Amino acid sequence: MAVDVGHYQGEPGVISASGRAEFEYNLELASQLKDLLKEAGLKVRMIGERGDYAILHYRTRDAAGADLFLSIHHDSVRLSQLPHAHRFAGFSLFVSRRNPQADKSLACASAIGARLRAAGFAPSRYHADPVLGENRPFADEINGVHYYDNLTVARSAAMPAVLVEAGVIVNPAEEARLRDPQLRSRMAAAIASGVLACLVAALPARADLYRWIDPETGAIKYSSYPPPWVGDAERERHLPPVEVLRYTPRGAARTPEGDKAIAPLEDRRRRLLQELLALPERKDRGPDEVQRQLQAYQQLAYELDRLDPKGAAARKAEDYEVMERIRRRLEVNAR
Ligand SMILES: [Zn+2]
Repeated sequence: MAVDVGHYQGEPGVISASGRAEFEYNLELASQLKDLLKEAGLKVRMIGERGDYAILHYRTRDAAGADLFLSIHHDSVRLSQLPHAHRFAGFSLFVSRRNPQADKSLACASAIGARLRAAGFAPSRYHADPVLGENRPFADEINGVHYYDNLTVARSAAMPAVLVEAGVIVNPAEEARLRDPQLRSRMAAAIASGVLACLVAALPARADLYRWIDPETGAIKYSSYPPPWVGDAERERHLPPVEVLRYTPRGAARTPEGDKAIAPLEDRRRRLLQELLALPERKDRGPDEVQRQLQAYQQLAYELDRLDPKGAAARKAEDYEVMERIRRRLEVNAR
């Protein structure tokens, strides 16, 4: 996954209502996004975080090998509209039909837009406006995705590419909102969740996955690399056990016994997910109940993945959704 920080020191983009450069905003949001995506087990390459990328197509060149190129920007309005900047707000997403993976780009942009909306952010209609904006056609109107076919970073990328305009920083009220670290965290989480939904749901697993409980946060971690204590017998004794989810190629042999076992396990998995989702609201739950139920769930999911590797990616995407909702509910309840 490549996360591109829009603009560079020599040309730092839009100057906000308060006089701060867009590059600073892009860097803050992109860095937070990087942390979240890494936490979720993706390998992330940052492009332009030192502010030294003056040539646009070097950005996509240096992202070679990534499954998605995501460019982070903050928005302005046309010069003639600057005196009325307070009227413009919201996020916008852009994809190019000239990108070699245009369909996948749009799917990822739509997933990101949908998560942003679910997190309470509204898409801007400004870029589509024929008079005030640039008359850019909508690719997915509900989720705020536009076609911008000549957009260099989207067009020159060999992989699916999406450009995010997080908000309109020439609008003083919107700029103030975007400066709020809490709002920024919410926005980064929504974008990360969209990226994961798009990548994890659509890509087959290609390697073994390691799964363990983070000793500091108690969160479940997935990674294609084992945590640092694996192989160190002394540390392994004190730290959480690490499960290896073996990669089974598509079309791996399935046995009749295996098939028979899947349906009831799948039913049980769905019930457990529903129970988990209800847990944050339950007043009678014990201190470790969420963690315990999660572990029970993970064991079941592991068994299912072994019996039905083809369904693993779809299940993982569904898990991620539910885990996100649980996390948000726990956060709200903790306030
Ligand atoms: Zn920009």
